[in-house]
Amino acid sequence: LSDRLSGIFDKLSKRGALSESDVNAALREVRRALIEADVALDVVRQFTEQVKQKAVGVEVIKSVSPGQMVIKLVHDQMVEMLGADAKVIDLNAPSPVPIMMVGLQGSGKTTSTAKIALRLQTRDRKKVLMASLDTRRPAAQEQLRVLGEQNDIATLPIVAGQTPTQIAERAINAAKLGGFDVVMLDTAGRTHVDEPLMVEMEEIRKVTNPHEILLVADSLTGQDAVNVAKSFDERCDVTGIVLTRVDGDGRGGAALSMRAVTGKPIKLMGTGEKADALEEFHPERIAGRILGMGDIVSLVEKAAENIDAEKAAAAAEKLRKGKFDLEDLKDQLGQMAKLGGMSGIMGLMPGIGKLKKQMSAANLDDSVVNRQVAIINSMTRAERRNPKLLNASRKKRVAAGAGVQVSEINKLLKMHRQMADMMKMLGKKKGGLGGLFGGG
Ligand code: GDP
Ligand code: MG
Repeated sequence: LSDRLSGIFDKLSKRGALSESDVNAALREVRRALIEADVALDVVRQFTEQVKQKAVGVEVIKSVSPGQMVIKLVHDQMVEMLGADAKVIDLNAPSPVPIMMVGLQGSGKTTSTAKIALRLQTRDRKKVLMASLDTRRPAAQEQLRVLGEQNDIATLPIVAGQTPTQIAERAINAAKLGGFDVVMLDTAGRTHVDEPLMVEMEEIRKVTNPHEILLVADSLTGQDAVNVAKSFDERCDVTGIVLTRVDGDGRGGAALSMRAVTGKPIKLMGTGEKADALEEFHPERIAGRILGMGDIVSLVEKAAENIDAEKAAAAAEKLRKGKFDLEDLKDQLGQMAKLGGMSGIMGLMPGIGKLKKQMSAANLDDSVVNRQVAIINSMTRAERRNPKLLNASRKKRVAAGAGVQVSEINKLLKMHRQMADMMKMLGKKKGGLGGLFGGG
């Protein structure tokens, strides 16, 4: 996908000017990219039409390359459509602030309820009470209770035989009496939208008057999610969307569809099963992901969390001097393992598609990474500093020490040379990999 897009942009940037047929050609590719990213067809049409209107209205510019112009227009339009300003949960109401979670069964309501409660409690220092109104599945209330216990979040005691609205009223009262700031109401779902579910949601809404009604939607359900969102929004008037399973969705198309169809902001994204796997929604990053242009910001953020600041500073210094020895490669390999492996880091960088392909062709998965670290460990300090020392007999010794073939050592050295070149190149660019490791 990203290869194809950069392909067309390369072609455009080689021409002198951006004509209408250039725009059309580029938009054909953008359309294909959006469909591959699982964006709903109506939204694809709407989006490309908007871009086209803007692009055609713009005079052909001289100073900027046509490819850059198209990228910028497409990207800006997408960020605008996704909602340029990141929205968070609104707690601007008298305590206890009721937050109601709605969505289909299995979309991640209960998990997201606990995630949001944990976030409000730890980041915003709010006192949160969670209540499960799911009387449909026998284990549902217990599921939330366990999540509360695991994460130190209060849950409403379970009383058998109550209806969802009775539980909801009890939750609000308990939150008032207990001095809670927020009361989170986790509701039951169905496998599909039906009338009894909608009636139940309306009743709960009436007795609790939620300040936020968050629609929880599974980003992997693609086109279906859009219709579901529409139905819930029409009946419940949702205030925002929580997209779940974003960790399994490399394409990001659901975000664009949901936003375009409901007009409601995406407030948070679930990125895993654990209670802390919840992220704020950043339109620029999702736009980048949809367009396959790389997810630089989250790479930087992830890196900042993982990379030891001191090592980073040293690495940046070496990059500036244009030095990148095998000792550094070993450090980088270790850091890459922290960043979710080679494939993880490569997927987050723009324009690395080709390199990634080469590397996967060379079978560079994480077990290979471990072997490479072993090879470097078998070298002397001098050899790591100056790989040129590694003549045939030294290679044999290292191979024996690491329990690998000499050919593997040659492969490693070749990769090191390639990376050193890449580092040098990126190190010169501000905001490139050099900025990444320097920023710590
Ligand atoms: P509910 O029926 O809407 O309450 O859905 P649950 O909260 O019970 O979630 C259903 C399943 O999806 C559980 O196994 C969760 O662990 C999983 N799940 C929820 N959110 C995410 C997410 O963001 N990423 C991943 N990978 N799994 C999730
Ligand atoms: Mg549930």
